[in-house]
Amino acid sequence: MSRRVIPVTDFSAIPVISGPAQMPSGVLHDTLARPLRDLRISVTDRCNFRCVYCMPRAVFDKDYAFLPHSALLSFEEIERLARLFVAHGVEKIRLTGGEPLLRKNLEVLIERLARLTTPAGQPLDLTLTTNGSLLARKARSLKDAGLTRVTVSLDALNEPLFRRMNDADFAVADVLDGIAAAQAAGLAPVKVNMVVKHGTNDGEILPMARHFKGSGAVLRFIEYMDVGTSNGWNMAEVLPSADVVTRIAEQFPLVPLDPHSAAETAQRWGYVDGSGEIGVISSVTRAFCASCTRARLSTEGKLYLCLFASGGHDLRALVRGGASDAELGTAVAEIWQGRSDRYSQLRGSATAESRTLDGRRVEMSYIGG
Ligand code: SAM
Ligand code: SF4
Ligand code: SF4
Repeated sequence: MSRRVIPVTDFSAIPVISGPAQMPSGVLHDTLARPLRDLRISVTDRCNFRCVYCMPRAVFDKDYAFLPHSALLSFEEIERLARLFVAHGVEKIRLTGGEPLLRKNLEVLIERLARLTTPAGQPLDLTLTTNGSLLARKARSLKDAGLTRVTVSLDALNEPLFRRMNDADFAVADVLDGIAAAQAAGLAPVKVNMVVKHGTNDGEILPMARHFKGSGAVLRFIEYMDVGTSNGWNMAEVLPSADVVTRIAEQFPLVPLDPHSAAETAQRWGYVDGSGEIGVISSVTRAFCASCTRARLSTEGKLYLCLFASGGHDLRALVRGGASDAELGTAVAEIWQGRSDRYSQLRGSATAESRTLDGRRVEMSYIGG
């Protein structure tokens, strides 16, 4: 019998809005002095892949209750909220999902978001994370709409293994064509994300490094994370990033590179021969909560303060309930200013468990990576 999983939502109270209708602006800081700088917006909870670590087919089957269209934030609603976040210090917006390229007319949303500027008049860094399957045919229109860059997920070059991992029979060539199209369209530098599952695809680390070395694309290795509750995560399946770096450096000598910014999640390594760089994202073995400046807006307009949060703040209810920009801005400010999340730092401690509701956590495909 199939099991239905309904994303966990709505456990946090919407802040009570009081006082004069003045929209607070300026950069917001949370209780740990972290500014609000990045916003990830999930535009759909659906996906054409069934990656084993994200949307296992046994759970996300034909009976799974995806959100009805009416529940999704419209492009107008997303743009309005994005504008308010930008007024509060957000400089970077990443569209995600599910598979964002499945959202109809996504280019229209990108055009609207690309017109937003920071209070200092700077354009936003507007990016998107995709599984790449539809990228070959969309790269040009995404670039024309104003997308700055793209990140493509690819877990293996080995064909049978890649098909097993996406569990939807997509071919490696589809994704490689997408990466090539993105590079040709100028969505550069393209980042390629590989989730490493120890015992599943760690044999692909070297072939992937060899393939992308000198290609202009930046390959990044992500530690398999305990997001959601449906992937059956197990620490034994996490290969520490330090081991990834050692394996690559034995073949291709590496030197550490400085981070681009304090909030950068990836640790950068450059090939000594000058043929590019790799990154490792050590979400499990080296928590970067102290510099986490990311807020996440779910497909149905819930604001999540952490990838591992058990509940979100319902901004859609405010938007559809007729809240003014000033009221929405105040709500966002109060929510961020109350933030204390740092799950990865606390992972493994009793506190980490007790700060989720009955161990329930939101699924990655619902909130976006
Ligand atoms: N569908 C798009 C894609 O795959 O790029 C965007 C959404 S996906 C949820 C965003 C990123 O999260 C992908 O790079 C994916 O590999 C990563 N991801 C999903 N589940 C993960 C997990 N359990 N641990 C680490 N990364 C994960
Ligand atoms: Fe889909 Fe991305 Fe999750 Fe894979 S990682 S199932 S492509 S949302
Ligand atoms: Fe940010 Fe939460 Fe991840 Fe820590 S665990 S880095 S607070 S999303």
